[in-house]
Amino acid sequence: RIVIKDVKKAFGEVVVLSSFNAEFADGEFVTLLGPSGCGKTTMLRMLAGFEKPTEGEIFIGDREVSSTKDFVPPERRDIGMVFQSYAVWPHMTVFENVAYPLKMKKMHKDGIKKLVEEVLETVHLSQYAQRIPSQLSGGQQQRVALARALVAKPQLLLLDEPLSNLDAKLRDSMRFEIKDIQRQLGITVVYVTHDQMEAMTMSDRVIVINKGVIQQIGKPTDIYRHPANQFVADFVGKIN
Ligand code: ATP
Repeated sequence: RIVIKDVKKAFGEVVVLSSFNAEFADGEFVTLLGPSGCGKTTMLRMLAGFEKPTEGEIFIGDREVSSTKDFVPPERRDIGMVFQSYAVWPHMTVFENVAYPLKMKKMHKDGIKKLVEEVLETVHLSQYAQRIPSQLSGGQQQRVALARALVAKPQLLLLDEPLSNLDAKLRDSMRFEIKDIQRQLGITVVYVTHDQMEAMTMSDRVIVINKGVIQQIGKPTDIYRHPANQFVADFVGKIN
């Protein structure tokens, strides 16, 4: 369970998020949707621990990871992340890329091998383990990044526009792959996008944000059929 309670974020005088309240169930796929600059990435970075909320609290599982008193750094939050520029290391093989976070944790070689092989199978890359990224397609490289984010079996996966660097056709197939992997692992996902289609097709629930304020939280169909206000209707594209 993830709880975001009364979170506010300001950079100096500029408030980029205010009164952010949301709760995500285990295994839920939640998307933060909104136009460029609305604060989506900032919220994700606060979940990750790269930014501190100005006010409010964040819980991951039973643990309070962020409050005015306590702050748990990213490496101790039990999360995996994939960003827009998914940056796999070009000089390392697929295996080495995926193994890297476990090596950092000083895990034993045999344990690393087992976990890496397992996650490579999940993302359908087993036969590419010894290749380097330049010998892979964009979609395959993206799956390497996904495998690396998942290898330590985090309880929360954060995805920030992970498909935006891929061409349209690949983007469509990767949408299904990500969903498929998420269902298979039963992992909680917070996904950031400005793409309505992506949000509507992938999510259990969507949080529509504009100018740092939540406009609506709901299932894709509810948001589509009953937009809370004009902004949501226009942004999501109301159908009748
Ligand atoms: P995009 O889809 O373009 O990435 P976004 O919705 O993810 O947009 P954020 O990146 O969260 O938006 O940015 C929200 C606002 O906060 C923007 O106006 C941005 O300029 C501002 N902002 C983000 N990080 C900082 C920072 N470190 N210092 C000052 N302002 C910042």
